[in-house]
Amino acid sequence: MANVFAFAESRGGELRKVALEVVTAARTLADATGGGEVHALLVGAPGIAGKAAPLGAHGADVVHLCEHPAFANANPEAAAALAAQLLKQTGARAGLFPASAQGRDLAPRVAAKLGVGLASDVTAFSAQGDAIHAKHPTHTGKVIATLALTGTPALLALRPNVFTPKESAKAGRVESVAPVADPAASRVVVKEMRGGGKAKLDLSEAPVIVSGGRGLKAAENFKLVEDLAAAFGNAAVGATRAVTDDGWRPHSDQIGQTGRVVSPDLYVAVGISGAIQHLAGMRTSRTIVAINKDKEAPIFKLADYGIVGDVFEILPPLIEAVKAARASRG
Ligand SMILES: Cc1cc2nc3c(=O)[nH]c(=O)nc-3n(C[C@H](O)[C@H](O)[C@H](O)COP(=O)(O)OP(=O)(O)OC[C@H]3O[C@@H](n4cnc5c(N)ncnc54)[C@H](O)[C@@H]3O)c2cc1C
Repeated sequence: MANVFAFAESRGGELRKVALEVVTAARTLADATGGGEVHALLVGAPGIAGKAAPLGAHGADVVHLCEHPAFANANPEAAAALAAQLLKQTGARAGLFPASAQGRDLAPRVAAKLGVGLASDVTAFSAQGDAIHAKHPTHTGKVIATLALTGTPALLALRPNVFTPKESAKAGRVESVAPVADPAASRVVVKEMRGGGKAKLDLSEAPVIVSGGRGLKAAENFKLVEDLAAAFGNAAVGATRAVTDDGWRPHSDQIGQTGRVVSPDLYVAVGISGAIQHLAGMRTSRTIVAINKDKEAPIFKLADYGIVGDVFEILPPLIEAVKAARASRG
């Protein structure tokens, strides 16, 4: 029986979807290795306790809760100290983190504190005898490496949106835990988190992404991309580096090797050639639709569905068709 640790990420007092993904994955791993307990860690400003219930409902046996005003924003030093302590205390076989911005800061700190290995940006894992095997895209996604983690605990940072949250029959008890060191005394202080506005869906969590490239010709034509995203109702807008470098879109919208890595259910690439560096950020999307006037564009090699044509002719009727399809579903 092997216990598994899961870091439950929150932001601004709200549990993030990746928290449920990580806890669900931890449940799967615990069950696959003999049915040990899942120990989730939730840190946040006072009041975060009210957000603990979904963690139990997604498979956590114990939610270790640490409320402190200095956890209002990400506090990687204090969170890492607490995570490392809990991993030791619970004798966890593995520790799961999200490979989100917060998780990519936190997980390596925990690995360094414990002197153990970390597999980052994991897209699949399995227990194989004494080892945990983790799949991890490398070389801009052209190669999938399988890493065998033999040490204990094995740490894995999971790519957001790849592991589907699943409810389980667990109720999950909540236990308050004190911080290891004073979180207010951390050397790293995150003073402010600037999001893209409340109405804007986060790229890493959006089920649909409509992404635009240089084929749109000018910044103002991104209105078509925004209108298509709005027609879906649950879509975020992404962009290529060519577009963000030209200042048509903010850098936070960039998808690719040097931008965000996303895995939505549906990725619509509009006027995007499909350079290897762009594919590195979206190739694990479940369904890819490409619209490009050049039938030889590399994006069509990856796309599940391709439309060869001019975006300015295709997008307006497509926006209307998506609106009509949604309206007919009520
Ligand atoms: C180290 C490094 C890191 C990089 N990191 C990234 C990254 O993270 N993300 C990223 O995206 N790029 C990255 N790049 C840049 C990448 O190599 C490409 O230059 C970039 O992705 C191209 O963007 P694009 O597809 O918008 O433009 P283009 O390659 O110019 O493609 C535009 C496409 O639009 C089509 N088109 C034109 N007009 C129309 C029309 N009217 N209707 C339909 N289609 C039309 C064209 O046929 C073409 O295929 C990186 C490059 C380097 C060297």
